[in-house]
Amino acid sequence: MTRIDESIESIIAGVIRRNRGETEFHQAVCEVAETLGPVLQKHPQYAEHKIIERICEPERQVIFRVPWQDDRGEVQINRGFRVGFNSALGPYKGGLRFHPSVYLGIIKFLGFEQVFKNAITGLPIGGAKGGADFDPKGKSDSEIMRFCQSFMTELYRHIGEFTDVPAGDIGVGAREIGYLFGQYKRITNRYESGVLTGKSPHWGGALVRREATGYGAVYFVEEMLKVRGQGLEGKRCLVSGSGNVAIYAIEKLHALGARVVACSDSDNVVVHPQGIRLETLKRIKEVERRRLADYVVEHPDAERLPAGTLWKIPCDVALPCATQNELDEDSARTLVANGCVAVGEGANMPTTPGGVRVFMEAGVAFGPGKAANAGGVATSALEMQQNASRDTWSFEHTERRLHEIVRNIHRDCYETAAEFGSPGNYVIGANISGFRRVAEAMLAFGVI
Ligand code: GLU
Repeated sequence: MTRIDESIESIIAGVIRRNRGETEFHQAVCEVAETLGPVLQKHPQYAEHKIIERICEPERQVIFRVPWQDDRGEVQINRGFRVGFNSALGPYKGGLRFHPSVYLGIIKFLGFEQVFKNAITGLPIGGAKGGADFDPKGKSDSEIMRFCQSFMTELYRHIGEFTDVPAGDIGVGAREIGYLFGQYKRITNRYESGVLTGKSPHWGGALVRREATGYGAVYFVEEMLKVRGQGLEGKRCLVSGSGNVAIYAIEKLHALGARVVACSDSDNVVVHPQGIRLETLKRIKEVERRRLADYVVEHPDAERLPAGTLWKIPCDVALPCATQNELDEDSARTLVANGCVAVGEGANMPTTPGGVRVFMEAGVAFGPGKAANAGGVATSALEMQQNASRDTWSFEHTERRLHEIVRNIHRDCYETAAEFGSPGNYVIGANISGFRRVAEAMLAFGVI
């Protein structure tokens, strides 16, 4: 073990000691820190100024009570979070997640990932994440509204277009952003469009923001395949999830000539060998807010399988677009054995470290979430640009910008991996590229 490796190991041990029980955060830090040896070797000033240690400690963490009343008049209490992780490159930026599994460790892992992802976009945004342990499943529209209003009644004092700009994530879409923005506007007496992104295009939201994460992940996979002299045409694909990211990944895969044969939610997998019918999926999930199981009622030629079986279906390309740690080592082995050649992470950290190892060893083109799903937050930054200039751009123009940003991210990760002696390793490319950008800004600002 070199001296640099030893110092990285001791930084990781320190993070684990100081953030007890936050296993997802430990995992996210390990996955990045373990790849930074070569960059410390090349830039000793990063170690001297303790850049890694500082990056691993969030700049600020806010935890607050969110009381609200359900439809029966009963008082409910949830816990809200906002972690401003790093603002070296711009105002804190990152989504809000409403899900019962949310606790500080989840928000910190997501915030940490966001720092690097946002840096890789090349746009001026820092990294943050927030959310609540609120379960939107089965809640009425009025309950969602009351929850969002209560959440914003505390959050408003911590955010602002130059300070911190939240957006959506799991459980938070345009409806929730609408209620959050309404309450912010009312409390502050300011129509500050740029304080939230993922707004509806009717009142300040960017066209393409809804589609951007899924489209971006597919563009990234397309670029990885291009390097290998292949394309998406005719490829059989698996997309996990059936939320915002999955739906628009499926839409773009179909548009580019691939065929998505299965998708999933937390209860079921749906296999449709002719290709998932997007109109049905969109209506069930986006309009009627029903469960995926209802898909097979409308398409008797589709089959419903139990949750956890998705990665056993043979495919050429896999896009995990559901949630963290959904694709483990065994699933990765099955995918490889079945001939999968490319994996693009639409979700944040969906592949376990063991799964990533299997893909690397098998030579699968693997696009880590920090790079492959960065199209979402990049388009949020484009929304901020439009809000700042009081302008609105067309769908075509915005999508062109998104496509260009994703191509640049791919090229940057590819070239950085080659520069550091690991050609084709997008994990190393993404981590080092993001880290360097943040590190340079932190060095310039001194010890703050
Ligand atoms: N939650 C999204 C992500 O994981 C988007 C964040 C944003 O648009 O600010 O990148």
